Amino acid sequence: MIFETIYCESHGNRISSAACFDCGKRLCVECAKRSFGRNYCGSCEHAERSKQRRRYSDKLVFIAEGRELREKGALLLRYAALIALSLAGAAAALLKALH
Ligand SMILES: [Zn+2]
Ligand SMILES: [Zn+2]
Repeated sequence: MIFETIYCESHGNRISSAACFDCGKRLCVECAKRSFGRNYCGSCEHAERSKQRRRYSDKLVFIAEGRELREKGALLLRYAALIALSLAGAAAALLKALH
């Protein structure tokens, strides 16, 4: 069995201790960026960070849209209740007029 020493791709004289989760680039302790519980190289970590941020803002937009829909729904219900009430009033008035 041969144990091959793997060196960092940016620092040829440093032993690699990790590989980038995304592109598989060999990284030394200094090059490895710990992010979201994984090791990334500099550029992949940057890309992953912006990806996560985008995901987070998407979620925020989704929550905001949900809230808006709920508010619209509540408004609609209020209108429906008002219409029902006025209809009931009209019906009662009509019944009174008939009797
Ligand atoms: Zn990478
Ligand atoms: Zn390195």
